Amino acid sequence: MPTTSDDCIFCKIVAGELPARIVRQDERTIAFMDIAPATYGHTLVIPRNHTRDLLEIEPEDLQAVAVAAQQVAARASERFGAAGINLINSCGSAAWQTVFHFHMHVIPRYNDDPLRL
Ligand code: 5GP
Ligand code: ZN
Repeated sequence: MPTTSDDCIFCKIVAGELPARIVRQDERTIAFMDIAPATYGHTLVIPRNHTRDLLEIEPEDLQAVAVAAQQVAARASERFGAAGINLINSCGSAAWQTVFHFHMHVIPRYNDDPLRL
């Protein structure tokens, strides 16, 4: 069973208590579409275990998230014709983290898309 936090929305997605469009899952991670996509295909990859941020996540979970993010990125290139990918993790509110369950953004990029980071 994954470690959970009672008032965490991503833990609720892991538990199936909140709906999400899940695109990939394995023993340690799930990947689902961002509710407010920055570009077409914007996906979040999270560990099933609740950990707050980059400074707290266990190395095994971080490794599993990285491998999952690479596969999600490859799929975005193939399926959506993305011309590039941004992988982004925000750690701490000063870095604009808003959900305090570790997550990696996989943001497909398209030639001349308007997103500025
Ligand atoms: P952060 O700002 O912490 O780096 O990213 C949090 C991300 O989670 C945002 O891109 C936001 O749109 C997404 N998000 C917040 N709540 C939900 C939700 O309930 N479902 C999904 N699928 N994404 C969410
Ligand atoms: Zn959580």
